[in-house]
Amino acid sequence: MKKVTKIGVMTSGGDSPGMNAAIRAVVRTALYHKIEVFGIMRGYQGMIEDEIFPMESRSVANIIQRGGTILKTARSKEFMEPEGRKKAYANLEKRGINGLVIIGGDGSFRGAQIFSNEFDIPCIGLPGTIDKDIAGTDFTIGFDTAVNTAVEAIDKIRDTAEAHDRLFIIEVMGRDAGYIALHSGIATGAENILIPERKTDPKEIIKSLEEKSKRKKLVNLIIVAEGDDFGGANELSDYIKSHLPSMETRVCILGHIQRGGSPTCLDRLIASRMGYHAVESLIEGRHNVFVGILNNRMNYTPLNEAVKKKQRISEEWINIVKILAS
Ligand code: ADP
Repeated sequence: MKKVTKIGVMTSGGDSPGMNAAIRAVVRTALYHKIEVFGIMRGYQGMIEDEIFPMESRSVANIIQRGGTILKTARSKEFMEPEGRKKAYANLEKRGINGLVIIGGDGSFRGAQIFSNEFDIPCIGLPGTIDKDIAGTDFTIGFDTAVNTAVEAIDKIRDTAEAHDRLFIIEVMGRDAGYIALHSGIATGAENILIPERKTDPKEIIKSLEEKSKRKKLVNLIIVAEGDDFGGANELSDYIKSHLPSMETRVCILGHIQRGGSPTCLDRLIASRMGYHAVESLIEGRHNVFVGILNNRMNYTPLNEAVKKKQRISEEWINIVKILAS
C-alpha cells in the first residue's frame, strides 16, 4: 500500500450547497495529518487544463456558510476520452499527487473509477447532489438545503394562493428523482405530489380537484418534480385548464434558487463529517469508494456501484399525503 502524501480535491458535475463545507473539511483534515492538499478548479476539466493550486488552512477560511463551490465545477467531455484522462494524470503526476477526493454525483464517481483503474491512483468520492438519489447513503450534501429552500418558497406561495383562492402548480427540481418534491410537498401540506417514480394519472387529479371544489376547498397546491412522467408544471396546468376552465390556476417554477444559498446546519454537518472521513479513508488505504452515512454510521460503497437510486414510495407516505391534505 502506497502512503498518501499529497492529495487533490475537486468538485464536479452539478453543484450543491455544502460543497464548500466539504472542501474545508478535506483540506483541514489533510493538513492536520501533514498531507499536502491541492485544489483542482472546475472538476476534471481543470485537471486536464492544469488549474491546480496548493491549498492551506486559510484557503478555506470563511467558506463553511457559503453556497456554490470555491473550486467551481464543470462537466468535461474531454475527460470521457482516454487522451483527456492521460493529460489529467500527467498534471497530477508532476506534482506528486497520489490521492484524490471528488465531490460530485454518480457521473463524477464513474469518471473517478475509470481514471483510477487506468492510473492506479486512489479516489474517494463524496456524494454532493441536491437530488439525494444515490444508493448507499441516507444523506447527500445539498439535499437538505435545497428542500428547505423549496419549503420556504412554497409557504410564501401558499399565502398568495390563500388570498385569491387559487390553484398553484409548483415545479421543483428533480429530473429523475422525486425526493425534493415529496419532502417539500409533505412539509408544506400540498394537496398532491407528482414524482417521476410514480405514474401520474391526470384524470385522478381532475377528479380530486372537482371533489375539493364541491366541498369549497379552493386553495390547492400541487408539487411537481420537473421529471414527472406526465410533464412539468406547464403541461399539467394546460391539462387542468382544458378540463376545469373555471379554476384559477397559476404556475411557479422554482428553478435554480434550489441550488444556491447558504447550506443548512445539517448539510454543513454531513459535509464536514464526510470530508473528514474521506481523508481518513485515504490514510487507511481505502480506495475507489464513496463515503456515505447509513443509519448514522459511515458506509463505504465502491465507486463502480454508485448508482442512482430510484425511490420506492411507500404506501404509507401516499396515505399520509392524501389524509392530511383532505
Ligand atoms: P454528476 O457527477 O453530477 O452526476 P455528470 O454525470 O455530468 O455529473 O458527470 C460529471 C463529469 O464526470 C462528466 O462531465 C465527465 O467529465 C465525468 N464522467 C462522467 N461519466 C464518465 C465516464 N463514463 N467516463 C469518464 N468520465 C466520466
